[in-house]
Amino acid sequence: MSDTRLGDSIDTVSGPAHFRQLGGWLEQPADLQPPLKGNVSADVIVVGAGFAGLSTALELTALGAKVVVLEQEFAGFGASGRNAGYLVGGQGMKFDLFVKRIGHEKARDIVKFYDDGVSYVERRLKELGIDCDYNASGTIRAGVHPSQEKMIRQSMQLGLELGSPAQFLDNAAMRARGIPPAFLFGCHFPTGGTLNPGKYVLGLRRAAIQAGVRLYERTPLLSYSEGPVVTCHTAQGSASARHVVFATNAYTPQLGLLRNKVMPIKVSAIETEPLSAAQLESLGWPNREGITTSHLAMESHRLTAHNTLVLSTKRISYVYGSKTPNEPDGAAYRSLAEGLNARFPSLHGLRIAHCWSGYISFAFDALPVVGESGPQQNILYTAGCSGHGVGTQSYIGRLLAERISGIEHPSLAALRHTTPSLLPEPLQWCAMTLALGAANRLDGFTNWRARKG
Ligand SMILES: Cc1cc2nc3c(=O)[nH]c(=O)nc-3n(C[C@H](O)[C@H](O)[C@H](O)COP(=O)(O)OP(=O)(O)OC[C@H]3O[C@@H](n4cnc5c(N)ncnc54)[C@H](O)[C@@H]3O)c2cc1C
Repeated sequence: MSDTRLGDSIDTVSGPAHFRQLGGWLEQPADLQPPLKGNVSADVIVVGAGFAGLSTALELTALGAKVVVLEQEFAGFGASGRNAGYLVGGQGMKFDLFVKRIGHEKARDIVKFYDDGVSYVERRLKELGIDCDYNASGTIRAGVHPSQEKMIRQSMQLGLELGSPAQFLDNAAMRARGIPPAFLFGCHFPTGGTLNPGKYVLGLRRAAIQAGVRLYERTPLLSYSEGPVVTCHTAQGSASARHVVFATNAYTPQLGLLRNKVMPIKVSAIETEPLSAAQLESLGWPNREGITTSHLAMESHRLTAHNTLVLSTKRISYVYGSKTPNEPDGAAYRSLAEGLNARFPSLHGLRIAHCWSGYISFAFDALPVVGESGPQQNILYTAGCSGHGVGTQSYIGRLLAERISGIEHPSLAALRHTTPSLLPEPLQWCAMTLALGAANRLDGFTNWRARKG
């Protein structure tokens, strides 16, 4: 079956699902801010209005800077408005991809940065008065087959050694918590939890507008010229400032920056119709912890405040040339629908209401890519937070604002490292297609064994 066109329904094993171009959590804001017309100047220009861009703009404004934000569509259009809403710290990281390379000491500092990202968001929600249905339940990385236990325990142990808290839950502990039975055992990360990312990013947008940030929406950056003053060119005007922050995440390579350091990876999600009271009752799951699995391409399963189930990831892909088309991924939605049936057999027949996709940015070591560019080192960038940007890409705003004001926070210093280079095309596409295909087959084997019991 071939993928359908934008706006169509997509057939899954659970019936047709409606593809949402803007993700499942938000609509275009009614108070869309006007596009940039004419020439403006500021202390700092931020390009991109997701968690990173909006947090940077808010923190800079609090320090007294005049800030312009250029956003190609509207705030929250990117991954920040499309993610699964897990606020996870250092235990969510892929330790095997970087610890040996950078060493324990640096890894410890980076894990601390991830954990600090969780407390940063929790504090900002209170300070900015953002209600985004945050459930501070912690999260669980679970196994669906006994073969996954060793890996979960090893990863948890390494995380503990690196300073991030966690607790192993055996089958009895999982059942005592009321976790759905397909998740046999797991590791509970007590910090963080789940939130509604649409409400969170729109809350940041509202706070930024109220704080006096000049947000220009429907204003793509087309080009920029470097120098002591950087000028950003848009379709109908330009903005100039002594500093520019690229908070464009997966879209950054298209702007000519970090082309050989980060690549966009397409990640998809499905959302069911609301569960009935009887279905919720049958499910148990009283604390509603967000659950991920330890597959090579993890599955994530969570309940929302409006009693739907959101499933994400499971089948990820790379588009040739680091492109980011806003198109449906029928194969991913079908795979997620199969996951829904496999993990929640008691909900058989539950309809999938929506499906959507977005892009994360990924470096080969799965670590953040933060730094400066240009002859004056006055063009800052942040990308590469893989699938863990809710906390980190929010917190990075604080660190970049301090950096622009002349202070290098120890956590920012810790993030500085040499990111491995990507491959040129078509090697990049071949390597990613082979690697993701292999991961998919291995995960499929684990799922087959889980079905066999
Ligand atoms: C399906 C999915 C599930 C995920 N689940 C989780 C999760 O549960 N937990 C977690 O921590 N992370 C998750 N992530 C990752 C997380 O969403 C991202 O790491 C985070 O949102 C990145 O924030 P950001 O501000 O850096 O980038 P984005 O939110 O992508 O913001 C970049 C912005 O730049 C704008 N832009 C791009 N080009 C231009 C241009 N030329 N001019 C002007 N503006 C431009 C875009 O429109 C966009 O608004 C998930 C991601 C996806 C896609």
